[in-house]
Amino acid sequence: MQSAVSPPSGYRGRLAPSPTGYLHLGHARTFWTAQQRALAAGGVLVLRNEDLDPARTRADFASAMLEDLRWFGFAWQEGPDVGGPHAPYNQSQRREFYLAAFERLRAAGSVYPCTCSRRDVEESAGAPHEAPPGGAWAPDEPVYPGTCRPRIRAEQPAAARSSAPRAGRNWRFLVPDGTALTFVDGRYGIQTAIAGTHFGDFVVWRKDDAPAYQLACVVDDNGMDITEVVRGADLLLSTFRQLLLYSALGFTPPAFFHCPLVTDDQGVRLAKRHEALSLRALRAAGRTPEEIRALTVAD
Ligand SMILES: [Zn+2]
Repeated sequence: MQSAVSPPSGYRGRLAPSPTGYLHLGHARTFWTAQQRALAAGGVLVLRNEDLDPARTRADFASAMLEDLRWFGFAWQEGPDVGGPHAPYNQSQRREFYLAAFERLRAAGSVYPCTCSRRDVEESAGAPHEAPPGGAWAPDEPVYPGTCRPRIRAEQPAAARSSAPRAGRNWRFLVPDGTALTFVDGRYGIQTAIAGTHFGDFVVWRKDDAPAYQLACVVDDNGMDITEVVRGADLLLSTFRQLLLYSALGFTPPAFFHCPLVTDDQGVRLAKRHEALSLRALRAAGRTPEEIRALTVAD
């Protein structure tokens, strides 16, 4: 109906929750900003179900997620329950796209197999570097020390291509050490990080033979023609990693808008363990979406 009056603009935003627990206030606030920005632009909002991790994903959380979002007042034009031109909208059904992107990265010599354990990386990584002035991000994982890096990359990228079996090891993206990366965030302004200093070679394919978050996110945001990514500021540093993937895959990156994180009264970032602040618990306690929205107005 609305489209007869005002055809959709080119704006395409998305909500990308993972069904690993109940949605809480922090999700609601970030998603609300995403919806408001899509509405203001006269655009389309896509719901993508990020159910890639079989160990943490549950079907009952997925159905609760859709129900809680609808109750809160979210409406999406494309998604797992309503379909759309970019279906499927469940990441668990999109493996072929991730695999194709991974094989392109491998053919270009952009990724290499890593047999280090998490503990190896933690023990050999240096102290994390804080963001430069104006940076709204915080270090999020140890900088990988490069133990398994191929030695011949600079002269012959293709020679660095590994024919190792895909499964059974992590595959890391080789970042260009010392390169300063910059983007303009819609909320925080100019953001800069240095590859190899602020973040290291990151995992794009996991040893359990599943795509890592960074790769799946880029492949889907590109494949679903997303024009602006609105998400929590905890993912700000990952934006630099993802920009490298966009470039390596020949994709045009979307715009980015990161939202401040909601904290509890102790200043601790909300997580799915804050059950009392889940939308489900608030609803059971008689709170209305309007009241919750008033608690989570974005600044
Ligand atoms: Zn390694």
